[in-house]
Amino acid sequence: MELEIRDHEGRPVGRAAVDPALRPPIVRATADDGSSREVLLDWERAVDDGGCLRSCVACGGRHLYRRRSLPRFAPFALVLAAAGVVAGVLGYSSDPAVLAALVALVALDAAVLVLARTQLCCYACGTTYSRVRIARYVRPWDARAAAEARDEAREPSLPSPP
Ligand SMILES: [Zn+2]
Repeated sequence: MELEIRDHEGRPVGRAAVDPALRPPIVRATADDGSSREVLLDWERAVDDGGCLRSCVACGGRHLYRRRSLPRFAPFALVLAAAGVVAGVLGYSSDPAVLAALVALVALDAAVLVLARTQLCCYACGTTYSRVRIARYVRPWDARAAAEARDEAREPSLPSPP
């Protein structure tokens, strides 16, 4: 699987490829600027019986959500789709060149859907996991789970009662 690791404050650390079967305790993460850094991974209770991740190996957070990651050209495809709609509304659609462009557009949008991948994401630190098997019980982002994760992350720093 591929990790886009963030630290406990959510700052990006770097990317790393990890074989979940090997459970490496340390991984070298490479940042966008080319620098690399060793990151400790916590596999303790992080993998369920089915071999799927159930908690974040970067921060230990127990709340993960799934999300669809769109390929880089998705915004471009959206702009073209809008242009296609405008062309259609203005009545250019009988022009063969416009029709050809619309067909190309449909192909591009289909590619966006095919290339969109589901990722796992940590509520607490924002580390994302791609090319990973995702358990059925992992739900998309929701506000209540996000609040729970936030409270859990805050708990250890609460002052203890006298
Ligand atoms: Zn995390």
